[in-house]
Formats: sequence, structure tokens, C-alpha cells
Amino acid sequence: MSSKSLAVVTAETMAACGVTAPLDAADGLAVTSPVTAEVVATLVPHSAAEAEAMIAKADAAFRKWRMIPAPRRGELVRLFAEELRQSKEDLGRMVSIEAGKSPSEGQGEVQEMIDICDFAVGLSRQLYGLTIATERPGHRMMETWHPLGVVGIITAFNFPCAPWCWNAALALVCGDPVVWKPSEKTPLTALAVQAVLDRALARFGDDAPEGLSQVLVGGPELGEALVDSPKVALISATGSTRMGRIVGPKVAARFGRCILELGGNNAGIVCPSADLDMTLRAVAFGAMGTAGQRCTTMRRLFVHEAVYDQLVPALKKAYASVTVGNPLETAALVGPLIDKAAYDGMLVALEEARALGGTVHGGERAPEVSNSAYYVHPALVEMPEQAGPVLRETFAPILYVMKYSDFDEVLEQHNAVGGGLSSSIFTTDLREMETFLSARGSDCGIANVNIGTSGAEIGGAFGGEKETGGGRESGSDAWRAYMRRATNTINYSKDLPLAQGVVFDID
Ligand code: NAD
Repeated sequence: MSSKSLAVVTAETMAACGVTAPLDAADGLAVTSPVTAEVVATLVPHSAAEAEAMIAKADAAFRKWRMIPAPRRGELVRLFAEELRQSKEDLGRMVSIEAGKSPSEGQGEVQEMIDICDFAVGLSRQLYGLTIATERPGHRMMETWHPLGVVGIITAFNFPCAPWCWNAALALVCGDPVVWKPSEKTPLTALAVQAVLDRALARFGDDAPEGLSQVLVGGPELGEALVDSPKVALISATGSTRMGRIVGPKVAARFGRCILELGGNNAGIVCPSADLDMTLRAVAFGAMGTAGQRCTTMRRLFVHEAVYDQLVPALKKAYASVTVGNPLETAALVGPLIDKAAYDGMLVALEEARALGGTVHGGERAPEVSNSAYYVHPALVEMPEQAGPVLRETFAPILYVMKYSDFDEVLEQHNAVGGGLSSSIFTTDLREMETFLSARGSDCGIANVNIGTSGAEIGGAFGGEKETGGGRESGSDAWRAYMRRATNTINYSKDLPLAQGVVFDID
């Protein structure tokens, strides 16, 4: 494939996914692959009027889709999963081209879509409500879950398709149409996913209304169109905390519902009893995998003084030897940063760390791979204390390492940042493990033992606390956010007893 330009490979891959729209508009939204810094397509973005029309179409689709029985809605998602299995390689390649992930990680993202579809198919027969004991004789009380309305899904560049599917697969079985505003950096994967879904829709037949799933191509202003529309019942927005600070209050102001999946500042704690070989591998993947561009990337590591001199030299060795390279042509473990802004952000953070007494290992650009694209050697930074850039998320492969001596103090340090997404402890000590998972332990939405901070499975609800936004999507009971709950009380007696024993007798 190295003989072909990436634009040609992109066009071929898009065609294999079933995309028929032209990828070569004269001007518009240029899509640049971080792999080579080549413009691989130029799309015509949607206008504000088109966004409004799409939302109206989705609203009309809701009126029909909500009346289709949920198990039948699940059948559409089952067919979609079949189509995804057929297109896994092509979609995975699109993820690699647009986001710079290795083929294994690109296809892993598609596998995650398949997994959540399978979950949603089962869910389509399990949208249970409770039956609740009432205090009134001859009465029955229960909860019913109904479809909510149009779901607006805004996604980030670093996971171009899986988070959409965490939302869309659940939304579709719950009876909700979806309108997707993907990152302006990765619209091609979204168009390819929609084309694959269109194949499932064609097989599904007339029960699916037009406008059940649509893609809005463009920048933040189109995300704002979703956010501001009273026709969009739920906004699920994945991206930076900066974006969440704008989106959250806007949706709240119109009493809309909002799932925020924002940035994290994830940490690991390595205790004296840790299995250090396992820890080394878990930290290497967690901190360097996907070039540090996962929301769950490990960014801080607290190492007990008793094992610091064993673990940290081994980590430095791993950092010095990790392979950096073109993910489409080599088996390198670390691919490119998304763009120059990401590289500049990394440089600023490393400079700040040095000024605070940090010792930086690695972190240089890798011109041997490319002079135009932004490949870097991951950086391990030994810090005297948690300060400055350590307190925020820099979306690049930087791991700040700090020494600790007291377990209670390190728990305080662990929780003393804005992000609350993912966390890990490496220990074989039962007391440390349970304390980390207890009410006074990690304050994150994800707390792991003896595995890294990244690589969550779809079965659990995914999301985090504090500046990560508090949202949950994917597995467990996250589906409830996509439905509205009605409490129903039925009186089958001949009397009218009032709750709380209230008396209101009229003759
Ligand atoms: P970003 O915030 O720049 O953009 C994310 C999306 O929001 C894009 O589609 C963008 O167009 C849209 N957007 C931006 N401003 C908007 C506004 N005012 N109104 C409506 N939409 C708006 O984020 P990014 O650089 O694409 O992604 C990286 C960030 O995303 C990191 O902080 C990472 O931690 C976070 N992230 C979080 C999760 C999670 O599940 N918690 C998952 C992936 C990425």
C-alpha cells in the first residue's frame, strides 16, 4: 500500500464501506490524516439550515420508531452488528487513517461497536421497570420506560466511532433516533459507519423511518445546533472538559438531558507488594498506547519508595525502546499525534515540568518517521511533586512519575486533580486494594486493580466524575438515560384511599 497515496487508499476504503458521496470537493472541510499529514479528502460541511432539517427529520422519525416494539428495534441493531462484522477490517482501516491508530487498535474500536450492539440486542428484551409495593389497598404501582426522543451525539477525534455506537446502539433499541456530529477531524469514519448502517436498514425494511440515523459533517457550530435545539431530548457529548463547560450549561438552561464524557487525568498507584512485571506492561500500554490519546490514558504514576528504584529504571528502558512509526506500514506500537496543536501542547507541558524540577526522559519529535506528520517519542517525567502540568490533562504521551511513602497521603494526592475518569492500583495487599475501591479510595468512575487505566469493556457503565462530567454510557444500566420513566398507579378497588392517609371527603 505504500505505493499508493493515502488519499487513494482512503477513497478505496470508503467505497468498500459503501460510501458513495464525493470525497474531493473543491473546498470545504479538509480531512488530514495524522499518519502522513496528507489531506485525504475534502468534504462540503452541512449548513445550519441542513442541521435544522436533519433534526426535524429525526423528530418525525421518533414518532414512528417509538411505536415499533423494542425487540423488533433490536433486530435492526442485530443486523447492524452483522454488517459491522463484515466491514470490520475496512472500518478499522478508516480509524487508522483518520486517527492514526494501529490496525489492531483500529479494528478493536470496531469490535467494541460489535460488542455493544450484541449487548443492545439482548437489552431490547430487557427494558424492565419495577413493580413497587403501594401503601393503598386495591392498588398497583409500577414504573414504565418509554422512548425519550432524538439523541444528539457529539464525538471526539480520538475514538472516531466506538463512543457513537455506545450511544446509538442503546438509543436505537430504546426507541430514539440519533443525529451524530463527529469530530471535524474524523468525519470520514462517521460517513463510513453510516453507510454500513444503511445496509442494515435496507435489510430491515419499512419499519425503520427515514432519518433514524444521520451524520452532521462540520465543526463545533453544528454541535451547537444540536445542543441548542429543543427537539433534541438528550445530548451525549464526548470531548474536552473545555467543550463540556460550554455544552453542559446550555443543555441545562433548556432543561434538556445531557451525558458528558470529558477529559481525565488518570493515575496509577504502585504499592510495595505489586507484581512489578505485570505493572510494567500495564503502565506501558496505559501510558504509551494510542500515543497517549485515550481519555483513559495513564498520565500520573505514584510509585512507593520501596519499589521505585526497581520499577522506574525498567520503565525508562521500555520508553527508550518502544517503537514509534507509521501504523499503516509498520508494526510500531506508538503512532502519530493528531496534529501540530497536540505536539505544541506536549512541548509546553514538558517545558513547564522542567521548570518545576522535573526530569524528562524522551519526548522528542521523531523526524526519522516523518518530518510533516507529528510523531513523538513518549515522555516519562520524574517529578518531585504533583504540581503544574501534572494537575491537568495534556492529550499526548506524557507520564509523570512521583515517589510516595504513605498510603493515605497518596490516596489524597490521587484524588487531588480535576479529572475523575479512570484509576488503577497495583498491589497484592488486600487492605490496600479494598481501601482503594472503598468510599475513601479512588474518586473516579473507573477504579481498577492490577490492570491499567485504559481498555474498558462495554459491559460496565463507562464515564467519570468531577471534570469528566458525571455521564455514563455503554453497559450496565446506562440505557436508562435514553428513556423516560413514568410511575403508574392503578386503582382496581371500589374506594379512593389517598396516599399518606390524607382525608378529603366531599359529602
Ligand atoms: P474537543 O472538545 O475539541 O471536541 C469534541 C467534539 O466536540 C467535536 O466534535 C467538536 O466539534 C465538538 N465541540 C467543540 N466545541 C463545541 C461546542 N461549543 N458545542 C458543541 N460541540 C462542540 O475534543 P477532542 O480534541 O476532539 O478530543 C479529545 C478530548 O476528548 C480529550 O479531553 C479526551 O479526554 C476527551 N475524551 C473523553 C472521552 C470520555 O469518554 N470521557 C472519550 C474520548 C475523548
